[in-house]
Amino acid sequence: MKALVLHAPNTPFDLTEVPDPVAGPGEAVAKVYACGAGLTIQHFKAGRVPAVFPRVIGHEICAEIVEVGAGVRSLEVGDIVTSYFYLNCGHCRMCAGDFQPLCDNFGGYVGREIDGGYAEYIRLPERNFIRLPEGLDWQGQPAHVGVAMDALATPYKVLRHARIREGETVAVFGAGGGLGIHQVMMARWAGARVIAVDTKASKFEACRDAGADEVVDASAVEVVEALLELTGGAGVDAAVDYVSAKSTLEAGARALGKRGRLVTLGGAGEAFSLSARELLYKELAVLGSRYVTPTEIRETYDLMARGEVWPIVTEIRPMEEAEQLHELVENGEATGRAALRIA
Ligand SMILES: [Zn+2]
Repeated sequence: MKALVLHAPNTPFDLTEVPDPVAGPGEAVAKVYACGAGLTIQHFKAGRVPAVFPRVIGHEICAEIVEVGAGVRSLEVGDIVTSYFYLNCGHCRMCAGDFQPLCDNFGGYVGREIDGGYAEYIRLPERNFIRLPEGLDWQGQPAHVGVAMDALATPYKVLRHARIREGETVAVFGAGGGLGIHQVMMARWAGARVIAVDTKASKFEACRDAGADEVVDASAVEVVEALLELTGGAGVDAAVDYVSAKSTLEAGARALGKRGRLVTLGGAGEAFSLSARELLYKELAVLGSRYVTPTEIRETYDLMARGEVWPIVTEIRPMEEAEQLHELVENGEATGRAALRIA
């Protein structure tokens, strides 16, 4: 099969022939139609995150099961699937409680510890394939279907985790990014009033198109003051921070109103300060949101199948143009998500 192989960190893709994968016991093989090109895998490619080489990266797949190994019960040939990004054990207390991202025996990632979706076929453990619902138009837009396992599922999980309800005000920090813009969309879907916060004014039109009621240019104004002004001094109900730098987390916390929730996703993992008095007097909550559960992915695809939400994909390229696609991702030039069309 054709595969985009990375031989070492920070080197170009090698589009080459490799042996077709064969499903062992408890595994399945799927034919890949499209695979998302997000910043996470660009970090692998650029060598900012350690990975084992040679490696085929990619996990945001829309694929079709073509072979199941011995003992596989939940999948059949012909099933349309995406992948679950984390390699979890499936039996620890976290996995058993449907908190798979917190698995006690976490084994790494699809496309980092094992080969991923930048190839014509992908082999994964049975539990790393998630079957997509009937009625989803995967044939028409496989790239959109592939990226949704992260682009829409991650913001969907945040809505649940932070208990965001209709009529609340949500500030999204890093709203112009590939996940941020989908958080804007999903918060709007949930019936919230959405304020997009970003430093790149060029992204604001896309934020408004995705459903932002207001935008705050963090490069031009004082963010906390702006958010307080936009809420009549009350503060926001939730601040969802896709930048999660010390400065944005502190701004988000200070902009919260009574019963406000601050959500961090990723970032550099720095310590930040928070007033215990504010925490107490306003009954604030600080939450981390790590990836998603398989259930949250299935629920997200159900919303897509019902036509309620659909991701924004602005760059779709063939395998031959993977290198140029990753340059766009590296430079933050894609407004929505980027993806490779494989077949
Ligand atoms: Zn586990």
